[in-house]
This record gives sequence, structure tokens and C-alpha cells, in this order.
Amino acid sequence: MNIFEKSERLGKLPPYLFKEIDRKKTEALSRGVDIIDLGVGDPDLPTPSHIVEAMKNALNDPASHGYPLYSGMASFKEAVAAWYRKRFGVDIDPEEEVCCLIGSKEGIAHYPLAFINPGDIALIPSPAYPVYNIATIFAGGESFFMPLLSKNRFLPDLDAIPEGIAEKARIMFINYPNNPTSAVADLAFFSRVVEFAHKHRIAVCHDAAYTEMAFDGYQPPGFLQVQGAKDVGLEFHSLSKTYSMSGWRIGFAVGNREAIQGLGAIKSNIDSGVFKAIQSAAVAALKGDQSSVTDMGDVYCTRRDIVVKGLKDLGFEVESPKATFYLWVKTPEGYASARFASRLLEESGLVVTPGNGFGEPGEGFFRIALTQGVERLSEAISRLGKMKF
Ligand SMILES: *Cc1c(COP(=O)(O)O)cnc(C)c1O
Repeated sequence: MNIFEKSERLGKLPPYLFKEIDRKKTEALSRGVDIIDLGVGDPDLPTPSHIVEAMKNALNDPASHGYPLYSGMASFKEAVAAWYRKRFGVDIDPEEEVCCLIGSKEGIAHYPLAFINPGDIALIPSPAYPVYNIATIFAGGESFFMPLLSKNRFLPDLDAIPEGIAEKARIMFINYPNNPTSAVADLAFFSRVVEFAHKHRIAVCHDAAYTEMAFDGYQPPGFLQVQGAKDVGLEFHSLSKTYSMSGWRIGFAVGNREAIQGLGAIKSNIDSGVFKAIQSAAVAALKGDQSSVTDMGDVYCTRRDIVVKGLKDLGFEVESPKATFYLWVKTPEGYASARFASRLLEESGLVVTPGNGFGEPGEGFFRIALTQGVERLSEAISRLGKMKF
């Protein structure tokens, strides 16, 4: 046997459908093509300076240098609870209902290890952020995909989940505002999810990475705002998008104490928490002036308006999203997502993400990330306008 024969777990990973576009991008870059990358969902705006300063100050304090507590410093957990109360009007016990994460991806990826046994089912939206499915596979579970369809405003149809599946399911992942569709959910939807979860004894994991990236005065709701939500679920928050801190690796989980405890039991045996200086910076972010969040929102909103108008003028079918920095756009008639994305790259140097890469129901769409300045975005629209579909 090969010394480095991969585990069955790795063998079960779904095919990575962005490989082709990645390869074409690398190849075009090496040829010196002027690429406009609208593929990656990574904020291009810098972290606000008061957060960077807080990190610098904490770095100079030797008390920052030792092992952190894996679940987070008391000051961090208190800042999270205070932020959650102020933003969503929900009380959180900072000691028992908060866990600091090395980015929310880490918490999402570890959560199934605490609650899924081999053969257990997880309910997973499709298209979606790939981590929900992969974390389920790593834990030995089976994914049941809930299609997110345009006719249902990209919300899962809970009535379409077969009774036998609902009975066997242990967890359900949801994510609103949504990546990749940029759809939003209201409290009525969250209420239906809570009811469903109570009825079928399912834990709900709400990925809330984009609740703070919203426009036109819209404030996305939090899952825990629904009566009874904390009995069945928890919410994953990220500072990556809210404060342009993707490289810092910090996020948090809030919600049901048994869920938080289980996640903590996995984490305490795998990692040793987030560097205390980064937690101090996060405290400054959560407790400080939130005008940078609004300012960044204005920047994304201006970009959204330019690109949505440009796409519509060219005949594309796209809705103007209330939240997230993504546009979920229909490919022109007769174009599969992958072929369309390839053509854009080869003929115009534009990188977009083919929708089917997020799951089969994403076929026929492509995703644009608004992570370039206005000038580059306008250039992208003008290049698109020169193509014939
Ligand atoms: C960006 C993103 C995350 C991950 O955020 P980190 O906190 O940086 O790990 C989680 N979920 C979704 C849907 C995202 O788009």
C-alpha cells in the first residue's frame, strides 16, 4: 500500500468544481492577461484603523502572549454578548452561550464532529458554502440537500423534506443573508425553521456571516430572535466580512449552551483558541464606533448599483440584493454555468464563479463578488458589453 494512501474520508470529498476556472485563471495570469477577478468573496477594503491600533497595543502587552483560553477571553465573550443584545435584542450568557472561533469556518467545520454519528443525516442547502457538506462528510454523516430555488426566493421548502429524512436528521444548516444567492430571510421563515426543528428534534446551525453587510437601511434578523430558537440552535458569526478582517481569523458561535459545550469539547482537543491580541482587536471592533460598517456598506452599495444597472442594460436577469456583496445572475439562454464562466475568462479576462460549483441547483447562474473598485467594475461591464451571447 502507498505510504500516503489517503483516508476514505478524503476520498469522499466531492469533486472541486472550480478547478477548471482556477486553472484557466492561473494560465491567463501567466500570459499577462489583465484579469478582473470577481470570483473570490474576500473584502478588498482595509480593516478599519481603530481595530488595527487595538491589535498593536495588545501586541505590546506581554499578557497577550500566552496560550488563550480555547473558548475565548472573558472580555471577548462579554463584548459578543453586549453586541448581540444591542444588535438583536437577545440576551446571551457570555460564559455559557458564547464560543470564540478561529473564523466562523472553523466552528462550522468542527460542529458536526460533536453531534453527528456515522450515518446520521444533516440537512444542507444547495447551492451553498461548501463547508456544511464537507464537515458532515468528515464526521461520517450523510448530507440531504435542500434545493434553494428562485421560485421559493432561495429559501428551503421545509414541506418538501421527506418525513423519514426529517426523522433521521440531526442538524440543519441555513445561511441568511445567503452566499451565493444573496437572498435574505425574514423572522417568519426563521420561526418555521424553529417549529420544524422542535418537531423533528433537529439542531439548527445558522451561518450569519453576512448579517452586517446590508443596504438601504435593511437590517437582517438574527436566528436567535425567534422565540424558542435558543432551545434548538446556534448562530455562527464572522468578523471577516463585517469589519474586513478575513485574514485575522476570528469569529464566534452564540446560542444553545449544550451546542456551545459540544463544540468547545471538540475545539479544546484540537486547537488552543485565538491569539489574545486578535481577540482584543475584535473587542475594539464589536464595542467601538460602528460607522466603519456603515461606510463599507455604502461602498458595496454603490458598486452594487453600478453593476446591477450595467448587467440589466445588457439584458442579464439579476435582482438587486438587499445584503451581501454578491450578485447571483442568470446565465444567458442556453448557457451552462461552467461554459459561460470559461468564455468570460478566455475572451474578456473576467473571473466569475459558476453557480453549479456551489451545488447542482446553482446550474444556470453565476456569482459576481463586488470586491473591486468602481473603475474596475465599470471596465468589467464594458468588456461584457463587447461580447455576443
Ligand atoms: C466568508 C464566509 C464564511 C467564513 O468566514 P470566516 O469567519 O472568515 O471563516 C462563512 N460562511 C459563509 C457563507 C461565508 O461566505
